[in-house]
Amino acid sequence: MSASPSSIDLDRAPGASPPSPRRILHLDVDAFLASVEQAVHPELRGRPLVIGGLPDERNLVMSCTYDVRARGVRPGMLLAEAARRCPEALFRRGDAQAANRLRRAVARVALRTSPLVEEASIDDFFVDLTGCTRLCGPAFATAERLRAQVRAEVGLPLSVGVGTNRTLARLAGMLAKPGGVAEVLPGYERHFLRALPVHYLPGVGRTTRRLFEQFAVRTAGDLAQASREVLFASFGSAGLVLHDRARGIDPDPVEATYELCDGDEGLLRVRMPRSIQRVSTFEPEEGRRERVEAMLCYLVERAGHRLRSHGLRAGSAEVSVTYVDTRPPAVRRRARAAGEGGHHRRRRAFEHPENATDALWSHARALLRSLPRRRALTRRIGLSLFGLSPGAGWQGSLFSAPRSDLGGDGGGGARGSRRDRGVGGGGGARGSRRDRHRRLDRALDDLRGRLGFGRVLRGGSFPLTETCELEADGFRLRTPSLNQ
Ligand SMILES: [Mg+2]
Repeated sequence: MSASPSSIDLDRAPGASPPSPRRILHLDVDAFLASVEQAVHPELRGRPLVIGGLPDERNLVMSCTYDVRARGVRPGMLLAEAARRCPEALFRRGDAQAANRLRRAVARVALRTSPLVEEASIDDFFVDLTGCTRLCGPAFATAERLRAQVRAEVGLPLSVGVGTNRTLARLAGMLAKPGGVAEVLPGYERHFLRALPVHYLPGVGRTTRRLFEQFAVRTAGDLAQASREVLFASFGSAGLVLHDRARGIDPDPVEATYELCDGDEGLLRVRMPRSIQRVSTFEPEEGRRERVEAMLCYLVERAGHRLRSHGLRAGSAEVSVTYVDTRPPAVRRRARAAGEGGHHRRRRAFEHPENATDALWSHARALLRSLPRRRALTRRIGLSLFGLSPGAGWQGSLFSAPRSDLGGDGGGGARGSRRDRGVGGGGGARGSRRDRHRRLDRALDDLRGRLGFGRVLRGGSFPLTETCELEADGFRLRTPSLNQ
C-alpha cells in the first residue's frame, strides 16, 4: 500500500519506530458520582464530598472527592469509617438520574470529534481518533480540547490518556489523574511499560498480583520477559492476553456505543447491552417477605422496561438474595468456604426468550421462592437478565385462549370485557393472556416514556410505597442501578 508521507500520521514522534496507526483516547471522569453532585449543586463545589449515603447508614462509599481521598477514604469503604477519617466531609446519597444524563452529555461532546465512541463503564469512554487526526489535529491537542469542552459544557472534570491501543490509553489516563492529559507516544510503548508496576495492567487483580510476585514478576517489563508457555500453563488464555498487554499489544477495537441523532437527547444507542442487572439494598434490612418480593417485582419492571426499550429478549434470568449473617466472623468464614454464606443465587433459562414483564416476574418469583429461605433479615436483592437477543416484534396468537387461561394476577382485571377487544392487533380475537400482557406492557412503556417511570406502578411493587420515596423517575432506592 503506498501512502504519501503526509497522510500517515501527523502526531508521530520523530525518529520513533514506525508507529501503529491507531490513536485511541481514554476519557475518565474524575470521582464521577461526587463530580456529578457538584455539577448539579454548585454550592458543593470545592467542598469535601462523599457519595453513598449518610454516615449512620450501613452502606459503602461509592465515590468521594480527591481531598477526601487524601485523608484515606476510598470507594468501597464503610460510610461510618469514612466519617471517622474525614469528619468534615459532606455525605450525599448520589443522583443516578443526573449521573445518566451527564454521562450522555459527555458522550455527545466526544461524538463531535469521532464517530467511534465506546462507553466502557458508567464513567469512562474510549474514543478512536484513527483517521481523524488530519481533520482534528494531533491526538494530544484533541484530548486537551475535549477535556476543556467537557469541563465547560457539562461541568465534569476529565482525565484523558492517549495511546496506540486501549490498554495504553487507559494506563496513560490513570497516570494523568486527576484532571490531566497524558500520552504514550507511538514507538515508546515498551519504554513506558518497562518500569510500570504489573498491577496497573487491566486484568491483574489482587490474586494474580500475588501469584506474579511468587514468579518475581513485579513490573510489566518483567511480565513481558516471562515465557508464554509458563503463563498459559498457570493462567490459561488470560495469561497470554496479559503477556500481550505487558508488551504493548492490544488489538481490541473501539466499538461505537452511540450515534448522534435528532431525537432523544441527540443520542441513539447502537450497541446493545449484553446483560441487564438491577440490584437494591435494604436500609434498614428487611424482615418482611412481602417487601422483599415487592422489591423484586419493581426490579423486574425496571429491567423489563429497559429490555423492551432496546427491542431485546432475555434468554435466562438470575435472582440473588443476601441475608444478614449474624454469626461470629470465624463461623461465617468457614461457612462461606463451604458455600454456605449469606448470599444465594439461582439462574434458570426461559422456555423461549422473553421480554414481557408478566413472564419475567413469574420466572423471577419462582427463582426467589426456590432459593434457601433463612430466618434472617434480607440485606440485598438482585435480578440479572442474560442471553439477550434481538426480538422487537411479537406474534399475536391466532386463536383466543381457553377460558381457564384468562385472569391471573393483576393484569387480568379486564377479563372478557368489551374494553379488552380491539386494543392493538391480535386479529380481532381477544387474544391469550400472553398477548394481553404484551399490550399492557406496550401501553405502560408508552405512558412511562411520556410521564416518567414512577407515574405508573404494578400492584406487585405497591408495598414499597410505605418505605421508599416515589418520584417521577421511580422509587428512590438505596443502591441506585446506574446502568439504565
Ligand atoms: Mg472515573
